[in-house]
Amino acid sequence: MEQLLYDKTITCPVCRREFTSKKVRTRRLKIQEKQDDLNVIYRDINPLYYQIFVCPHCGYSGSEGAFGEINVNQKRLFDEQIRYKWKPREYGGVRTPEEAEECFKMALLVAQVIKRPQSYLGNLCLKLAWFYRDINSPKEADFLKHALRHFEESYQNEHLEGTSVDEITVAYLVGELNRRFGKYKDAIVWYSKVLEHPMIKHNRQLQLKTREQWRVAKEQFDQVKGSSEAQ
Ligand SMILES: [Zn+2]
Repeated sequence: MEQLLYDKTITCPVCRREFTSKKVRTRRLKIQEKQDDLNVIYRDINPLYYQIFVCPHCGYSGSEGAFGEINVNQKRLFDEQIRYKWKPREYGGVRTPEEAEECFKMALLVAQVIKRPQSYLGNLCLKLAWFYRDINSPKEADFLKHALRHFEESYQNEHLEGTSVDEITVAYLVGELNRRFGKYKDAIVWYSKVLEHPMIKHNRQLQLKTREQWRVAKEQFDQVKGSSEAQ
């Protein structure tokens, strides 16, 4: 497994000090399975363990894509509520499941304190749910629910241009997470939003996937309806 990892040197945008974090050589990964909520399972390693950077000096944490983005206001919030309580801890080696979980929890705490967008929080919760699924933890369902709540709020209140997750992907995930929790009617409404969205023309793969899941949800809805009418 160690050949799949390398050390990346990062400069913390808060304390300006350097640290290293392991990263996965994505080109070498072999896909084992693609799941309906967009989780991808790889054969030899779970890249989710290394998605989060944690600065060992000050505790600033986040997913790689947004790590460098922090404004003056957010820095102030971070300084007041986290930085001065932080006891230096190191996550730069090969991570155990416990350490990977701690990294996600730190990233979530930082995101809440510095008020990151709902789409970012949704993504973090979804990834943490996938991590729990991988280790068979019952906490998976809790974090899928948190992800759903953040994504719904994001779709209603945020402009998603220029963020790591686009509007149709958020709508698809809201549909899919509703379906997982047995809310088939809501799922169908959200899948329809995806299929009617002007941007879907540019994402053929998501369009096909959404049509497939729309049919699955419709069947499940008809079954539930049929059985409740039979009673
Ligand atoms: Zn730092």
